[in-house]
Amino acid sequence: MTKAWSILPDEWKPILKDRGLRPFRADQILQSLYRDYITDWDAATTLPKDFRETLKAEFPITKYEILDVSESADGTKKLLIGFEDGNSVETVLIPATGRFTQCISTQVGCAMGCAFCASGSRGVVRSLTADEIVAEYMAGRSLGEITNIVVMGMGEPFANYDETLRALKLINAGRGPNLGARHITLSTCGVVPGFKKLAAEGIQFELSVSLHAPNDELRSQLMPVNKRWPIDELLTACADYTNATKRIITFEYTVIRGVNDSRACAEELAAQVRRVPMAKVNLIPLSPVEHRPDFETPSEATMMMFLDVLMKHRVQTMLRRSRGKDANAACGQLRLRHLDR
Ligand code: SAH
Repeated sequence: MTKAWSILPDEWKPILKDRGLRPFRADQILQSLYRDYITDWDAATTLPKDFRETLKAEFPITKYEILDVSESADGTKKLLIGFEDGNSVETVLIPATGRFTQCISTQVGCAMGCAFCASGSRGVVRSLTADEIVAEYMAGRSLGEITNIVVMGMGEPFANYDETLRALKLINAGRGPNLGARHITLSTCGVVPGFKKLAAEGIQFELSVSLHAPNDELRSQLMPVNKRWPIDELLTACADYTNATKRIITFEYTVIRGVNDSRACAEELAAQVRRVPMAKVNLIPLSPVEHRPDFETPSEATMMMFLDVLMKHRVQTMLRRSRGKDANAACGQLRLRHLDR
């Protein structure tokens, strides 16, 4: 039994053939799945009834439920998606002019344990399968046409590499949903083996790296992953990636008041990212999380100081705002509120 949403468009013909089914059906299947966006094989009325029964038995469409929708004043919508085993993840839809971005999760919880992040504050339950990640996308697109995907929800995509990549390749596939690779951004906390693998894929997905601190002492305090792959190793992997792919890397730096927000940190950050060709920086003010009341949002002046220092060092930098706060849909806020209920 293979889930329909885990099969890449080009794989359908050989899979049907292997099972003694007629390969010419592949095109009809793909049209039903990714043009009509059926969520139940019974709705694939172009296919004969007995074949629909075969599909139901051998290639079921993943069942999911939208358990909750909360909307923020800025238009951001957070969906809670439930799967058959009772686990759930959150996905966030973020409207902007000319864009409708979906932030997707790759794991139930997260094992990385970053100090400032709610998603990881209770560990990981399990990784999502490719079809479940696709199900999140399907739930999202039922609310509007998705123009961009950011893999910045719950979980560490490089800790669930194969299933995440399979889902993204499917969403990207021409005979699938056909969302452009450059409109899909993966974000990692720095699981180094993932960089080489991604470079070898030869797909033009965008890559973000959560850095958040410019030296090992501070980064290891904030992000346990740094003990396994310290900054030198991480930046070397980043440089290898940009050299091999000619693609930019965006470093995410969440600014936390009194923790990583000094001018010295900004200077050190500039020096570090300049070691990576084609690097950019996104500065994000911390979005407060309940489990760490000691972590506070920096002042606007601090954000400007950071921006100023980075610009002086000719680092391409963007100030980002965290969206969806009043729906608990902001960066690092996913999941906890729901578990507590
Ligand atoms: N595991 C991946 C993707 C998920 S997190 C990663 O670490 O990149 C998406 C981004 O939100 C990461 O950059 C993460 O560090 C950041 N983030 C987590 N908690 C946050 C918070 N409280 N405020 C601001 N950003 C946060």
